[in-house]
Amino acid sequence: MAKVVAIANQKGGVGKTTTSINLAAACAIAGHSVLLVDVDPQANATSGIGLDPRKLSRSLYHCLIEHYSPIETIEATAIQGLSILPAQADLAGAEVELVSKENREHVLKNVLLGIHSLYELVFLDCPPALGLLTINALAAASSLLVPVQCEYYAMEGLGRLMANVERVRHALNPGLEIEGILLTMYDSRNTLSRQVAEEVRGHFKEKVYQTVIPRNVTLAEAPSYGRPVLLYNVASAGAQAYVSLAKEFLGHGEKSLG
Ligand code: ADP
Ligand code: MG
Repeated sequence: MAKVVAIANQKGGVGKTTTSINLAAACAIAGHSVLLVDVDPQANATSGIGLDPRKLSRSLYHCLIEHYSPIETIEATAIQGLSILPAQADLAGAEVELVSKENREHVLKNVLLGIHSLYELVFLDCPPALGLLTINALAAASSLLVPVQCEYYAMEGLGRLMANVERVRHALNPGLEIEGILLTMYDSRNTLSRQVAEEVRGHFKEKVYQTVIPRNVTLAEAPSYGRPVLLYNVASAGAQAYVSLAKEFLGHGEKSLG
């Protein structure tokens, strides 16, 4: 069984997509077979990995709504061992169309059932909302990784996210675990960044990764070249931070990756 990790936080711009792409890439480079699923209609993970969403003939929408085979929809990437189930803008329609579906919270889970044996790790890059797409991701996931931006209001919304996790556990997915909380866009010269990091660690304790992702312009540049930062500039502080996160993550996950 693949380990399925939802990367979610209903706040936008906190580093979900950057983490999805670069953690997935670092795990693939470490030798694991990895699938990245773009669950966001903005399709930033799809374009950030080098695919043009407008040129795809099929994507996650078709798997969720039109019963296309995920295996025939998955695309290879420039990184060996890393594949992507891409998104296009029409995925926004799925948020509405899923409402009338039977078992509407389990549609993504059922789409992924057929590919569990093909991958060790599946990362779900969630949209910045707690709508039906994110609920589908939480219902399909074995664990949740939450990027938290080291800025004002970092904790805002985390209570609501955790309340939703409780609700999903109760109603849909009792096994859902908290994989970890990841501090992103950290600036050590900035007092606020340090305060936010302290506050988050104080609250979530050992659930917070030791690895902190620094604010690093290379991480913001890499997607415009359609590349994970490890292929764009491996020596950058951003790339090295995601390598370190992958080590920590794979250490945590050793048992389930057996
Ligand atoms: P989300 O998916 O949560 O909306 P993104 O990963 O798309 O967030 O990040 C939001 C923006 O910030 C993007 O332009 C991205 O390139 C940039 N970014 C993300 N992480 C960092 C970082 N550590 N340092 C600098 N820029 C970052
Ligand atoms: Mg995103």
